[in-house]
Amino acid sequence: MRMRGLRALLVAVLCAGLSLGPAAAGRQERRPSAPPSFYRPVVTDGMTFPVARTNWFSVIEFENDWHAPRMRVVDGAWRLVGLHEGLDIIAEEGTPILSMTAGTVERLGWTFYSGTRIGIRGQDGRYYFYAHLSGVAPGIGVGTAVRPGTVLGLVGNTGYGPPGHRDEFPPHLHLGIQEGATWINPYPTVRRLYAASARSTARGERRLARLASQGRGRMFDRVASRLYADLEEYR
Ligand SMILES: [Zn+2]
Repeated sequence: MRMRGLRALLVAVLCAGLSLGPAAAGRQERRPSAPPSFYRPVVTDGMTFPVARTNWFSVIEFENDWHAPRMRVVDGAWRLVGLHEGLDIIAEEGTPILSMTAGTVERLGWTFYSGTRIGIRGQDGRYYFYAHLSGVAPGIGVGTAVRPGTVLGLVGNTGYGPPGHRDEFPPHLHLGIQEGATWINPYPTVRRLYAASARSTARGERRLARLASQGRGRMFDRVASRLYADLEEYR
């Protein structure tokens, strides 16, 4: 999804959100339903899954690709040029990228392989590295303090070229975590955070479904406002 698609979606969400309010006096009570929305980040032990999830359709995929061989054609032959020191999370272009942890933005800008990237120094001392962004969120700059769930930017496929270069590979978030001078495998942590997020939002959806079937519109709105993200954060 490109930025324009994201904005259109947000407008749709906002408009639909307006219809969530209590039914006007004299109008017939209707069965409440939630508009397409991003879930509020689920924070577990001070950390959250780094890509925004939605209640309508979510192409988010990752597998343990730590130290997967990276090949390139050099002088007409495929050669091993390195090992993958991170985790690739496949998501639709324009999906918000969330800070996994509390910390401070330490690096921001373009590098040849990473494209637009943001580096966060976590309060835990680790360095969290987010690469290939299609855009940086407003208000994010070197020195900005972030918390788990702060929107850093949008998923893209920038990099492998001069500033602005893109489309060398499908959109995804490359996530790196460095401890001291050593990159570590993000997969076990990210997998745990994804599972926690999916469990929590599934619980929320079940609760909403119950309230909807009972026609409890006001309680539905209250639970929905806790389950779904504050749209201001996604502009
Ligand atoms: Zn990667």
